[in-house]
Amino acid sequence: MVLFASTTCGSSSEAQGATAGERSSPRRGRPKVVRGRKGQGAWGKGFPQSKPIIIPPANIQFVADEEPAAPHRCPACKKPVPEPGLKYCHRCNEIIDSAKYVVALMIAALIEAYDEKKDAFRCFHSGVVLHRGDQNDPFYLVFDHFNPDEPRLVVCAAVINKMKGDLMNDEWRIVVPMLSDHMEKGSPFDQNCVKFVKWPERWEFPPSPGRALMAAPVPRPCRICKDQRGPGRKRYCERCARLIQGRAEGRTEKAVALVEALDWPTRKFRCVHCGVLVDDTTSKSPWSANFDHITPGEKRVVVSAAWVNQMKSYLTAGEFRAVLLGLTNYWRYGVPFDTSVVKSRAPLRR
Ligand SMILES: [Zn+2]
Ligand SMILES: [Zn+2]
Repeated sequence: MVLFASTTCGSSSEAQGATAGERSSPRRGRPKVVRGRKGQGAWGKGFPQSKPIIIPPANIQFVADEEPAAPHRCPACKKPVPEPGLKYCHRCNEIIDSAKYVVALMIAALIEAYDEKKDAFRCFHSGVVLHRGDQNDPFYLVFDHFNPDEPRLVVCAAVINKMKGDLMNDEWRIVVPMLSDHMEKGSPFDQNCVKFVKWPERWEFPPSPGRALMAAPVPRPCRICKDQRGPGRKRYCERCARLIQGRAEGRTEKAVALVEALDWPTRKFRCVHCGVLVDDTTSKSPWSANFDHITPGEKRVVVSAAWVNQMKSYLTAGEFRAVLLGLTNYWRYGVPFDTSVVKSRAPLRR
C-alpha cells in the first residue's frame, strides 16, 4: 500500500461533480492538500513532499521467495543427511571414502544393495547383511567388480569377494554349484563348464627344477609316480621335481600330497576338491597343480586346481564346503545364507 505525502482528502468524483454555486465554502469539494512549509514535506522537516511513504497493512504476511527446501537425503540409503553441506550420510560417506572406485558406480551398487527394512546393505552374492568396522570380519562390506575389468560394481562380503577372484559372474554362478554338488553328491565336475576367460596367469614355473631334486648318477624310478623316464634325477622324475620345487621345508608335504592325488591309470594328479585331473605342464592355467593348505596354518597340503585353491582362499576345507553349499542353496532355493559357517577371519591386511 503506497501513500503519498501530497495526498488528497475526499473523492475525486465529489470534487468534479460539485458546482461553484453549491459550494458553501470556497474550500469545499476541492482537494485538500496537506502542505508543509516551503522546502519541507507535509509532516514537516525530513519528509519531502514527493517522497512516497510505504505503510504496510496490518495483516500483511511476509512470504519467502521459495518453499522451504526439503531435507537433503543421502542418495544411497535415502536417509536425511544430518549436516548441511554433506552429500551423503555419515555411514555411506565412510564407505565411499574407504574405496577407490568411481563414486557414481559405488552409489549405484549401494542403492542396489540397500535393504530399507534392515537399514543395512546386503551382499549381492549371498544376500547376508554386511558389517563395517572390523576389516577382518568375513562379512565386512566391500565392493566387487561384477565382471573383472568392467565398470559395474556390486556390494559384497569380503570373503565372497576373495573367493570370486578373477571369475566372471556367469562363471562364478556355474562353478560354485557344480563344485558343491561334486562335494555333496559326488557328481562329476565338468572341466569344460567355464573358460576362465579372465584368468590372470600370474605364475610361471621357474625354468629348472633345482639341483637338490636332480642329478643322481643312476636312473631310478620316481618316488612319486614311479616313472623312470628322465635319467639323472635324484629322487623324482622331471615333472614331479618341477611340481614340488620351491622352499625346502614344504617339499615332503608336497610329495605326500602328490602321492595321494596320483591317478594310477593316467599317472596324472587329481584335484582333491573337484576331482578333475590337473594340468602338470604349466603353472599358468586355471587347472595348474597347486598345493592347498587344507587348514590354513598347518603343514599338510593337498593337490588342488589353481582356481579352486584361489577360491578356497583362507577358509578351512570344512568352511569352504559349507560356503559353497550355502551359496548354492541360496541361489537355487532362496535359503538364507548362514554366516556362522565361517569362523576363520581374514588375514591382516598390509
Ligand atoms: Zn546413506
Ligand atoms: Zn614322478
